[in-house]
Amino acid sequence: MRTPLIAGNWKMNGSLALVETFGQAFSRARLPAGVEVALMVPYPYLGAVVDALAATPVAVGAQTLSDRPSGAFTGEVSGGMLAELGARYVLVGHSERRSLFHEDDEAVLARVRAALSCGLVPVLCLGETLEEREAERTEAVVLGQLEAVLDALAPEERERLVIAYEPVWAIGTGRTATPRQAQAVHAAIRDRLERYAGSLAHGLRILYGGSMNANNAAELLAQPDIDGGLVGGASLKVDDFLAICQSAG
Ligand code: PEP
Repeated sequence: MRTPLIAGNWKMNGSLALVETFGQAFSRARLPAGVEVALMVPYPYLGAVVDALAATPVAVGAQTLSDRPSGAFTGEVSGGMLAELGARYVLVGHSERRSLFHEDDEAVLARVRAALSCGLVPVLCLGETLEEREAERTEAVVLGQLEAVLDALAPEERERLVIAYEPVWAIGTGRTATPRQAQAVHAAIRDRLERYAGSLAHGLRILYGGSMNANNAAELLAQPDIDGGLVGGASLKVDDFLAICQSAG
């Protein structure tokens, strides 16, 4: 059985006040047994979030990392620094990084390697644009992004990933993939994992992301190959995010 993971992605949002709100709410909340929860926050809030959630089972993560361990790379943040602050997860290849910051498959792979070398769990994000979906290229695009990373990793490294399928047209748009659409792509991803190893297909968690909210989460999470959610906008509202966590139980 795969442990469901609900991961919030604050993107470049939030404040120290929101960190405190989450700390208080999650300290009081009773999370469903057997569900893992994580919060991916902007770098400056990492230390504060780790402290605010210290008494809770919620893990903390970052939204990207440098592909280098250290050096003259002004403005960059290394995986080692994230791990030192208490981060467990890091998003890699989020569509906003791919499109706005021109991170191609090679850059994504370098960041996955950097994360693994620091003991972080990379959450590898995959997804097609609307144009690609309409051209019936969804599987080719998503599986191509997946293979660009998996082909280059050792079998034991592959097992340390989390995958997130996030159709680009559903991110931040309020337009969610239907449970059927999402399940079809998740099943294709799992099928492709099977080619690497049965244990990989069986063990890796594949999260769905794209306008998941408190109303649609339960139906998405009920799909057999959807093992959790990567939640953007709704992770900024503590009650909504808690409700999504409850839906995973
Ligand atoms: C995301 O940022 O990964 C995301 C899925 O955003 P939203 O839930 O707002 O669509």
